[in-house]
Amino acid sequence: MKKVNIHLVLSVFLMLLISASRTSSCIGELHQVKKGETLSEIARIYDVPMKRIAQTNSIASYDRLQIGEKLLIPVASKPGNANENAGGSWYIVKPGDSLYGIARKQNIEDWKKLQQINGISNPKRIRPGDRIFLPGEGDIGFIKPLRTKVYVTSKYGYRNHPISGRYRLHEGIDFRAATGTRVYASKTGTITYAARKGGYGKTINIQHEDDFSTTYGHLSRIYVSVGDFVRQGQIIGLTGNSGHSTGPHLHFEVRYKGKSENPARYLELR
Ligand SMILES: [Zn+2]
Repeated sequence: MKKVNIHLVLSVFLMLLISASRTSSCIGELHQVKKGETLSEIARIYDVPMKRIAQTNSIASYDRLQIGEKLLIPVASKPGNANENAGGSWYIVKPGDSLYGIARKQNIEDWKKLQQINGISNPKRIRPGDRIFLPGEGDIGFIKPLRTKVYVTSKYGYRNHPISGRYRLHEGIDFRAATGTRVYASKTGTITYAARKGGYGKTINIQHEDDFSTTYGHLSRIYVSVGDFVRQGQIIGLTGNSGHSTGPHLHFEVRYKGKSENPARYLELR
């Protein structure tokens, strides 16, 4: 009986090895496991079967996930989607590789970007067999933070505030959205805020390159933390009705050097 078990273990191990070598070219999104998250919850967030996530990452579906563990979520890219090149891939470190060398070979301009995305504190410490996440290229411009059909319920500009009645600048666009609608990073960047923020309710702020930032307000769930690197099109939270809000919606802002701009200038609102 024992012999059979060893055989079984060995063949499972072999299968894992084979699938591990396949993952290096798999397109997907990088997800860092948060406290208390389970594989089934992550599968639900991304709308991807649990089995596929387990296979892609060479883990068993019943494995306990480690906090901070990085999973590659196999997300199919649809043709015609603005986000089609945004997916990244895994690179398995080979003997003699350096982060600088990997970046150069993969046409990634700045090897420090690889260090940042992968949370590597000492780049000299990468070892053969380590998995390095290579970001995709679809991070030019902004995309809509919702993938559902968008209804703008309040435009950018001066208005009488729906709760205070005061005439003041509405610094973003409001999109009507049922509570629990997925919110996507409009552009690649680093999370600089992920918590409640007065009237904004649960709020996420992303700092992008080139002095732009985006803000997502009135959320019900936040899936990211300050310091996280997020790619364009990555799910960062769920819409809600938190803060000063008269109904479930997403408040979305684009700022340049801290000053609000009309997001409609940057998005295709159709
Ligand atoms: Zn608003």
